[in-house]
Amino acid sequence: MSRHSWAEPYKIKVVEPIRMTTREERVVAAREAGYNTFLMRSEDVYIDLLTDSGTSAMSDYQWAGMMIGDEAYAGSRSFYNLVEAVHDVYGYEELVPTHQGRGAEHILSQILIKDGDYVPGNMYFTTTRFHQEHAGGTFVDVIIDEAHDPASLHPFKGNIDLDKLQRLIDEVGGDKIPYISVETNVNMAGGQPMSMANLKATYELCHQHGILVMLDATRAVENAWFIKQREAGYNDKTVAEIMREICSYSDGATVSSKKDNLVNIGGFLALRDPELAKAARALLVAFEGLHTYGGMSGRDMEALARGIREMVGTDDHVHARVGQVEYLGDALIKAGVPIIRPVGGHGVFLDAKTILPHIPHDQFPAQALTAALYIESGVRGMERGVVSAGRDKGTGDHHYPKLELVRLAIPRRVYTQAHMDVTAEAVIDLLQHPESVTGLQFTYEPESLRFFQARFEPVA
Ligand SMILES: *Cc1c(COP(=O)(O)O)cnc(C)c1O
Repeated sequence: MSRHSWAEPYKIKVVEPIRMTTREERVVAAREAGYNTFLMRSEDVYIDLLTDSGTSAMSDYQWAGMMIGDEAYAGSRSFYNLVEAVHDVYGYEELVPTHQGRGAEHILSQILIKDGDYVPGNMYFTTTRFHQEHAGGTFVDVIIDEAHDPASLHPFKGNIDLDKLQRLIDEVGGDKIPYISVETNVNMAGGQPMSMANLKATYELCHQHGILVMLDATRAVENAWFIKQREAGYNDKTVAEIMREICSYSDGATVSSKKDNLVNIGGFLALRDPELAKAARALLVAFEGLHTYGGMSGRDMEALARGIREMVGTDDHVHARVGQVEYLGDALIKAGVPIIRPVGGHGVFLDAKTILPHIPHDQFPAQALTAALYIESGVRGMERGVVSAGRDKGTGDHHYPKLELVRLAIPRRVYTQAHMDVTAEAVIDLLQHPESVTGLQFTYEPESLRFFQARFEPVA
């Protein structure tokens, strides 16, 4: 039998009811939340595409692992299962468990960055850059220009621009660059992958200058899938094999286990150098927990160890995961909705500047579109634009990123294609009358990571 469609490689054993609200209820909910979807109650949400972080559905095998997690304070069996899983799948010898990704970013930044250092990266991630700057470093974006162009169809928009990196090395010197932070499947660029060839070349250039390569491997499995699809020489390899090769071009990685790893909480820092791991563990006991649990319970570590093996157990898992994102993206493209292309690995990103040309950039078009989509349909997304980018430390002005996006992130193994159909219809309906959406202004602006807790009101 020949097969033309993919299907989810699982069947559903447990369901969680969701509730549709009225438009009147959502108008009130949006106002009470200061037009910030992070401040809404999930009970007021119909289809929740706020994030794919910690929202995955675990398998029956993972849930079974929760029951037999070893809650010993020290030396938990579940910790050693996790060490083995990370070693087998990612290839790193040293494991430093943390409560989630930012815990690992904090420790890594503190052990490697000195005041006045530079940390290049392929576009920034919010918490990653926060910890680099908090440790006294300056973040420098070295992603290729195509990443900032929503219309570019470059297959590897997450690639590092090696000329930009070389220029930074020439300007400040390799000794001022402790490491480069290389993100797989770049979140803020729209879930866009980097190629193996680019990663390998980056690793070689950095090692000539004594610069370590630290992966943000949070979404490495999705990146591996795109390499298999798009890069010559990889179509016959398994995602598991491609994962191992990706990690081979690095000295360590920070991972938020709330994404690829199919659990609701957790993360880790993985390293090759035992001396560096020693320094990390010395900080770990102060900020996270003992070195055999970090910030996780035994059952969390057990479910995580199993999730790590499941995410690469067969390629069918990541095929269905990315396939569902592409399904939503293709429906929107067919209807003429401007979205970031190619469709990324974890969500669909609406180009708010193109959709709402009447809203000036300092009135937060993407934030306004996110709120309007919620009010009209109960679908919850999040802003990825000027609000997320924050202010310049020196001048105090907003950072104005070229990309002003609404992210509709798809949780793993949670929603069906029918939910994707309803979401596509909601976006298409909203675009029938974009002029009804008005700009927003702050009523409360937190000092750092402002997008999480900021409040807004419509501009009069
Ligand atoms: C989510 C995420 C992080 C931060 O991880 P948390 O678990 O939320 O602290 C870092 N980098 C990337 C690419 C992410 O997607």
